[in-house]
Amino acid sequence: MQSSVADPLRILQDTFGYTSFRPPQDAVIETLMGGGDALVIMPTGGGKSLCYQIPAMALPGTGVVVSPLIALMQDQVAALRQAGVRAACLNSTLSLDEVRQVERDLLDGDLDLLYVAPERLLSERSLELLSRARINLFAIDEAHCVSQWGHDFRPEYIRLSLLAQHWPRVPRIALTATADARTRDEIRERLGLEGARAFISGFDRPNIRYRIHQGRGNARQALLRFIRETHPGEAGIVYCLSRKRVEEVATWLQEQGLDALPYHAGLGPQVREAHQRRFLNEEGVIIVATIAFGMGIDKPNVRFVAHLNLPKSIEAYYQETGRAGRDGLPADAWMRYGLQDVITLRQMLDASEADDARKRLERYKLDAMLGLCETTACRRQALLAYFGETLEAPCGNCDNCLQPPETWDATVAAQKALSCVHRTGQRFGVNYLVDVLRGREDPRIKHFGHDQLSVFGIGADLAVEAWRGVFRQLIARGLLAVDVEGHGALRLDESCRPVLRGETQLLLRREVRAPAGGRAARRT
Ligand code: ADP
Ligand code: ZN
Repeated sequence: MQSSVADPLRILQDTFGYTSFRPPQDAVIETLMGGGDALVIMPTGGGKSLCYQIPAMALPGTGVVVSPLIALMQDQVAALRQAGVRAACLNSTLSLDEVRQVERDLLDGDLDLLYVAPERLLSERSLELLSRARINLFAIDEAHCVSQWGHDFRPEYIRLSLLAQHWPRVPRIALTATADARTRDEIRERLGLEGARAFISGFDRPNIRYRIHQGRGNARQALLRFIRETHPGEAGIVYCLSRKRVEEVATWLQEQGLDALPYHAGLGPQVREAHQRRFLNEEGVIIVATIAFGMGIDKPNVRFVAHLNLPKSIEAYYQETGRAGRDGLPADAWMRYGLQDVITLRQMLDASEADDARKRLERYKLDAMLGLCETTACRRQALLAYFGETLEAPCGNCDNCLQPPETWDATVAAQKALSCVHRTGQRFGVNYLVDVLRGREDPRIKHFGHDQLSVFGIGADLAVEAWRGVFRQLIARGLLAVDVEGHGALRLDESCRPVLRGETQLLLRREVRAPAGGRAARRT
């Protein structure tokens, strides 16, 4: 019994209670059981775990799983044990006695799966222990941690390449939900997986409708309207950037009669757990959270994910919105952001302690996120393109597809804006610049003599909102830089020259409709 190979499908049904494999699970399992290596790239919730759990159980010996998050590791082991799988973990939370027990079980061949944190695995003691055990596979979860290009780089992951040297005949599988091609290449190279078969499954979540609005002020009201009109009484997650904002929004939604609960790291474990439990077990609970919420949360019927701030990257946006509609039924990813988000994120980035390469990377990621926000084309096409996937036709299920945005030729306006930044000495923020452009009577402007400039009043034809839109998109595209110390002062970037010289046309989204004779109405 110990050394015979069990049938994967039987294990899937008997132990996990599922009827069939989701592609490409069966092909991955087959590869590993045939002695080959695999690289699995699958979105969160796609079903990565079974790809290594089942072969580890089916083959004689123990599968060793490297996982960076102790909390998730413990959850997985607990769930496996409940299902009758002989699983254990080795991590810093165990007592010496517990460690000894796990070691004994491993050597006696009484474990199907052993979860280990990477630094632990690489210790002399563990390597020596494993060399005496019968290992049937190594699974490296969250394999993007090996990539410096990725967002969760962990130095100890790099040393995992020694697994290939010590155990050349034991199949290895690396898994991640991060898909950009560069990360993929780095995983292969650094983990010695050049020969591994790659399984890349689609990142498209067709049932999620993407909507991204830009707006100023009263975001809460817009959120409330969105929830009331499209998701009354349904479960959802609202993401905010700060704890303070989480509290504020949760309280306000409660006052409006919604079943909303806050969730952030400042709340204390009991409260957090209670709120999480209500969200998971009851119908129609809304969690207002900082980005900390969601790791390992698997609730199928989350009907919407709302962002009241701009995420830092498309990966983050995809991960967070991906928590909606896991059951495959229609769900919404709704986001609202504003000029201030763009400025704040840029400042945070410039002020961070990270080295230059890191900053450049983060800037690139933020730019890509902003590009997704400002695009007038299909959001899904843009999103998938970022992950290296091509969607042939526009999706028909995003705001831009459903209601094609109007654009306007903002080349001249952009030139005026850039030249206003230049003439006022690159020392002022957006509000001041807009006042100068619109020729506002203002003591500060007089004091600096800026009412004497040629740019003073040359933008009176455009409304304040339209000007803010121009500045936001100029910042988003990196043509203007935000000063860290100067309280949001704007500076010209080299890249603005072609626009100033009239060599590039700038088409911008029209965000305010100005009906003739009426006040500009905001689109929702
Ligand atoms: P990932 O690690 O890719 O985020 P998980 O391995 O946690 O995903 O799986 C996500 C969910 O899908 C889990 O609830 C899991 O039990 C379920 N699942 C995985 N494979 C299957 C399958 N073949 N049939 C039905 N449900 C599955
Ligand atoms: Zn679309």
